[in-house]
Amino acid sequence: MREIIIIGSGPAGFTAAIYAARAGLKPLLLASSVEAGGELMNTTEVENFPGFPEGIQGPALMMKLQEQAEKFGTEVVLDDVTSVKLDGDVKVVETGYSGTFEARSVIFATGSAYRKLGLPDEERLSGRGVSWCATCDGFFFKTKTIAVVGGGDSAMEEATFLTRFAEKVYVVHRKDTLRASKIMQDRAFLNDKIEFVWNSEVVGINGENAVEGLTLRDTRTGLQSELPVQGLFVAIGNDPRVHLVHNQLDLTADGTIAVDGRSSRTNLPGVFAAGDVIDAHYRQAATAAASGTVAALDAEEYLAALDQVEHESPAKLAADLVAAE
Ligand code: NDP
Repeated sequence: MREIIIIGSGPAGFTAAIYAARAGLKPLLLASSVEAGGELMNTTEVENFPGFPEGIQGPALMMKLQEQAEKFGTEVVLDDVTSVKLDGDVKVVETGYSGTFEARSVIFATGSAYRKLGLPDEERLSGRGVSWCATCDGFFFKTKTIAVVGGGDSAMEEATFLTRFAEKVYVVHRKDTLRASKIMQDRAFLNDKIEFVWNSEVVGINGENAVEGLTLRDTRTGLQSELPVQGLFVAIGNDPRVHLVHNQLDLTADGTIAVDGRSSRTNLPGVFAAGDVIDAHYRQAATAAASGTVAALDAEEYLAALDQVEHESPAKLAADLVAAE
């Protein structure tokens, strides 16, 4: 049986692995088979991770984190976790292809998944003009006119990146102010290829076999209009990935895994959580890394306490027996 299994391979998971590995716990890190590296794999330039004044590409940062974790003895397995059993002293983690793993502790660092608009044609036209990842699909929109929906940092980043390929990029936002950080807003405002469509929500994605346009609704007047575009990038945030732990771990009203104060302790002993899956607010690579640190230290403390109990118990038993005689 292992000491610790880490589920998730973003900054939280790999930082937890670095700490746990350096503590001699030989962690097993289960990275997804298709989404290994987490959200930063879909990011271009990361300018705000400390230590990289010249910036670093998201995938390069993740490679460095993995290299650092493996250097200290982390075993990384690229497989999807299909189910977990978390009550009891032995935590059981089942994967798609690599079998079942057992450990005395588990850290969930499963991050979050792209939020969807929830429109009937969104799935149908996914991969046919509807995308959630500019770095993955931007190339296919050379000289096209496209729309990005959202008003946060992701939407600004996607829109700015997409201007490398597209002729024109509309940013459709349901309000008249952005949630994005000032530097990202300014960059988008200064870009000639970007045009903002304010106070508008996407209520329809049109096209038979590929996206041909959007139906927008003015959030103030309710009036509808058509926007001819060949692509739609949805950048409206993320939802924590908690499907594995439903009915096992307590969740917060935001849908994140509930933890005890500033710790990573969930409602079950030996089960810890870190990164975006516990954070509906800050959601930065640096905060996720810090959260992974906390989880590894909490797990280490938990395991040390278990060891102490296990070592003390026989001695105490013997002492009790002697006293009884
Ligand atoms: P955010 O939650 O920050 O923003 C989501 C945006 O989408 C908001 O503007 C929101 O509108 C809008 N939205 C949400 N739901 C809908 C919907 N159903 N229909 C239409 N619009 C909707 O998510 P982000 O992914 O942009 O950012 C998440 C976190 O990641 C943030 O902390 C951000 O700073 C960080 N990040 C940092 C980057 C960087 O620094 N390089 C890059 C990307 C993200 P409203 O404003 O009305 O709520």
